[in-house]
Amino acid sequence: MKILVINAGSSSLKYQLIDIETEDVLAKGQCERIGIDGSQLKHTPAGKEAVIIKKPMKDHADAIAMVLAALTDAEHGVIRDMSEISAVGHRVVHGGEFFSKSVVIDDNVKKAIDQCVPLAPLHNPPNLIGIDACEKAMPGVPQVAVFDTAFHQTMPQVAYMYALPYRYYEEDKIRRYGFHGTSHKYVAAKTAKLLGKDVKDLKMITCHLGNGSSITAIDGGKSVATSMGFTPLAGTVMGTRSGSLDPAIIKYIADKEHMDLAQIDNVLNKESGVLGISGVSSDFRDLEAAANEGNKRAELALDMFVYSVRKYIGMYLMQLGGVDAIVFTAGIGENTASMRADILEGTEFLGIEMDLEKNKTIRGVDAVISTENSKVKVMVVPTNEELMIARETAELVK
Ligand code: ADP
Repeated sequence: MKILVINAGSSSLKYQLIDIETEDVLAKGQCERIGIDGSQLKHTPAGKEAVIIKKPMKDHADAIAMVLAALTDAEHGVIRDMSEISAVGHRVVHGGEFFSKSVVIDDNVKKAIDQCVPLAPLHNPPNLIGIDACEKAMPGVPQVAVFDTAFHQTMPQVAYMYALPYRYYEEDKIRRYGFHGTSHKYVAAKTAKLLGKDVKDLKMITCHLGNGSSITAIDGGKSVATSMGFTPLAGTVMGTRSGSLDPAIIKYIADKEHMDLAQIDNVLNKESGVLGISGVSSDFRDLEAAANEGNKRAELALDMFVYSVRKYIGMYLMQLGGVDAIVFTAGIGENTASMRADILEGTEFLGIEMDLEKNKTIRGVDAVISTENSKVKVMVVPTNEELMIARETAELVK
């Protein structure tokens, strides 16, 4: 069974074609600048060089048509015709309180995704456009929605409420939703597998540390707390996002700098985080290089990132009453040994003993990086959201 995984953004569309029996990626790629001059498709068949096809794409329907043409092309295609695609799995960012798991898409599902647009105005509309485009291009092929928020719907109310007047929750749906759910769920399942245990018998803290970062407490395979909130702006310090801060700062900046809310929102999302502190970059490789050359603000930015991640791990250790595993994933979690070491420094009193030599050598592969005697296993588990979407899609259409 072959599953096409689609991640539609406002002017981009990423895809992977996955053979679900072998879990091999047959081809992957990305349409860029959809609806803008200079649109192009980069298509990479497994084991071959990427091809770049420059052609105007006025909308997502054009983009999907190009993807299907590339997948079935005589030269760089990987399937004979479209009928080989059994189902399409769509990444959908926000499922609100409607969806606690992945679903086969029908009109009611589309309506519910549309009702969540105010909660994710930048993401849900292109996700819906991607769904419509696939429905038109592949009539009769089942489409599945896999939500970033769904995994966190198991959080208890005490963990998802904000201490605002209750009517803001009832009328405006203001609550913590959490994000990166597909990643946290994938990593939790993989961790259990690597440890040879049932996920139901494990408590873990998964740290998805990338451009956006989130930490999740998982008890018996269920998310019970997560650091992102109503939006992906909350939680730890991130690449360009501030993470959680004193809400009174917003009015103070508005008054002092004569800025409106949209401008402040832009500062908090795009100009803050480790970029804002360091003035150097949002990329951790650049920050480490700058810190090594003595740049104090780059060093401070890295320290603040570590401090904020430690805060959540500490909080969740308390909430879970101990853990079996702490797991690192995503760009920083998988690749940056120094961050992992700093985040868990001095935690031996909690039964956490990192093998620092092993930690140094691990990059982007599944590995246990704690000592033999460590009560808590510390692991690196590369995330794979596309594979998770393909698995959930296959499960639902089987
Ligand atoms: P996104 O949230 O956009 O998916 P990623 O998970 O790709 O982000 O993470 C991006 C971050 O990971 C960047 O800050 C980058 O510095 C870091 N990163 C990615 N690859 C490496 C690497 N090989 N070594 C060190 N850091 C890396």
